[in-house]
Amino acid sequence: MQRLLMAAAIALALVACAFAQQRAYDYKNLTADDIAEIKARRHEFYTAKSQGKQEAIRLAQLQKATYLDGNEADYNVKYYGIDVYLNFSNGSIVGKVDYVIEAMVEGLNAIDLNLATDLTVDSVRFGATAAGYSHAVDLLSITTPAPIARNAQFSMTVYYHGTPRFVGEQGMEFASVYGNTMCWTNCEPFGSRNWWPCKDHPEDKPDSVDIYVDYPSTYKVMSAGAIVSDVSSGTGRKRIHFNHNYPVATYLVAITCANFTTSTQTWNYGPYSMPVYSYTVPNIPQAKQSFETWMIPVLNALSNRFGTYPFATEKAGNAHYGWGGAMEHQTCSFYNPTFYDDWVIAHETGHQWFGDMITCKTFNHVWLNEGFASYSEPIFFEQQYGFNTYKSWLQSQKYLGGGTIYVENILTDDIFDNNLVYDKGSWVVHMLRGVLGDSVFFNVAMPAWYNSPFKYGAATTSDFTNVISTAVGHDMSWFVDQWIYGDGSPNYQIAYRCEPEPGGYRLAYLIRQTQSGGTYFKMPIRTRFVTTGGNVDTTIWNEGPVELYTLHFADSVTNVIFDADEWILRQVTTVPLQMTILTVDLPDGEINSPYAQSLEAVAGTPPYSWTFLGGDLPFGLNFTGGTVGEISGTPTYAATFYFSIMCQDASIPPASDTSSFAITIIPQQGLPGDADGSGGVSISDAVYLINYIFAGGPAPNPMSAGDADCSGAVSISDAVFLINYIFASGPAPSCP
Ligand SMILES: [Zn+2]
Repeated sequence: MQRLLMAAAIALALVACAFAQQRAYDYKNLTADDIAEIKARRHEFYTAKSQGKQEAIRLAQLQKATYLDGNEADYNVKYYGIDVYLNFSNGSIVGKVDYVIEAMVEGLNAIDLNLATDLTVDSVRFGATAAGYSHAVDLLSITTPAPIARNAQFSMTVYYHGTPRFVGEQGMEFASVYGNTMCWTNCEPFGSRNWWPCKDHPEDKPDSVDIYVDYPSTYKVMSAGAIVSDVSSGTGRKRIHFNHNYPVATYLVAITCANFTTSTQTWNYGPYSMPVYSYTVPNIPQAKQSFETWMIPVLNALSNRFGTYPFATEKAGNAHYGWGGAMEHQTCSFYNPTFYDDWVIAHETGHQWFGDMITCKTFNHVWLNEGFASYSEPIFFEQQYGFNTYKSWLQSQKYLGGGTIYVENILTDDIFDNNLVYDKGSWVVHMLRGVLGDSVFFNVAMPAWYNSPFKYGAATTSDFTNVISTAVGHDMSWFVDQWIYGDGSPNYQIAYRCEPEPGGYRLAYLIRQTQSGGTYFKMPIRTRFVTTGGNVDTTIWNEGPVELYTLHFADSVTNVIFDADEWILRQVTTVPLQMTILTVDLPDGEINSPYAQSLEAVAGTPPYSWTFLGGDLPFGLNFTGGTVGEISGTPTYAATFYFSIMCQDASIPPASDTSSFAITIIPQQGLPGDADGSGGVSISDAVYLINYIFAGGPAPNPMSAGDADCSGAVSISDAVFLINYIFASGPAPSCP
């Protein structure tokens, strides 16, 4: 699918400037202008987020025969222990990484790791044994001292030093951030290799990591996991140890170090009590205030809706860094100091579930990260302010244009498309909630995803579909296919007319899908019929270009309210119902059974005039046109017949409608003469017929079974025919 590539070069200074003028919104009473402004602000933010990532993904994927590099498919990393000494005087590091690795092939004799050649490897050791290695084109290729058996685990250490790389907003940077000296990392998707040697792909998460940072004692450091210790390591230096006892994608391991103002809150939730950290630059106190105000309400809201915060045994937090956006680093999101809106906190924290706990396996499926994180924004507002604010926020995420959410080609498509991956991605989750209903969505589907085999792993769209389908008990691929892999959204045109009928009222209700592109959507439409006797709320399933519904009501219908709460990403217009043929489906007929069906029309100016346009009526049936509009006769041949009929009304010039019909004629059911359905023809059938004709007994079923003489009707002659057959060797009942 061709899509417009977003202009990537919005100057960060401009973004920062725009965000410096934040104003507070009355979220409960957002105006249309507010919503438009919020949408623009959100897109500035998302655009800032995608800076550099797009190109980094392209470069990492370009000209690669396989997704992984070197022999990375041959082993599985179980553990990383990352140890870096930060040298602010020249922007360099001295590093060491410990590994526990499992061989996935027999006789593993090499290990390839991603590592920028800007960094110099000093040695590689397997315990006391030094190993050989080469380092070129950002790939560190290590030779194991001896071949390693499949499934055997072994330990290894890489020692390195140098000036880390920072290109395309990826890697480690020493810089001044709003006047504050800082060292920080930003690595989605493939930038971890720019500061530490690793298997730098999200599908292989280690079971745990330790991170040790040696830093100037006047600063503070934030990273992933629980703070184990933070002690002096020499004159003017400290060494901090973080332990993260969860799987984590390499791009979600990060550090930031500066003269932060720090504070700690406590989040209590169920059996959990964990610290919530705020690490902010001292000269933007609004950020500290916002983090401290909103982080705990966000954790509560998202835990209530999506399942307990996935790292509740360790910590959560928000910290500053120098990149232009914000990034969902595991257990502590990092933000540019100008980003501190409540919805940004909800977005990044939402990623701890979606992106961190469950990571997209490849960036084709990045909506599993960004769509859900974007949906965390309205979910937070719903919990905080109520359903109307939820709905208003979704208006700022509304996108009715083209393109697929699924990223078909990560080399040529915009992976971080604001409209598709973020906004429409959020709407897809909202619509899934609408289709399933709150109870199933929140109590069945979301817990199933939260507890799925992909928890703390990596998943694709089809993994998601399978988990949700199994949980709710029916195949949801129709939903995912049309909204994730499909293009566009429905434009509904509705028309209706209510008329009296015996016992109440008949509503003719027509729904057309008028969007271009030929993709028609299947969706349940929450509908309110306003009647003179009160509201009737129901759900109407709609599919295909035109559907006509004939509905019966006790009272007259005065209004049809279509999807009032916008559970569907759509447009809708209401038009007067034009003269319309109301008959949609004609019933099957049966050979030798009389058939009669009148056609019906609605609206326009009666009387209606019917004309057979073309095609084939079943043999034996005739069409009576003019004001009658009836198909009748006795079918004689079994097949499906197709024809079309036009109806005109009495206005001048006349309005007209044309419908195509099909009638299937089935073979004669039941044995001719077997009036009592016993499976054979005997004198009891004659008795059965006499009882039916003269004594009000039950009718033959099917009626044609009683028509022993093939006259087209059941009468006493059929009983006579049977008696003649049984007792006087007359002809057997067998219609031609
Ligand atoms: Zn995001």
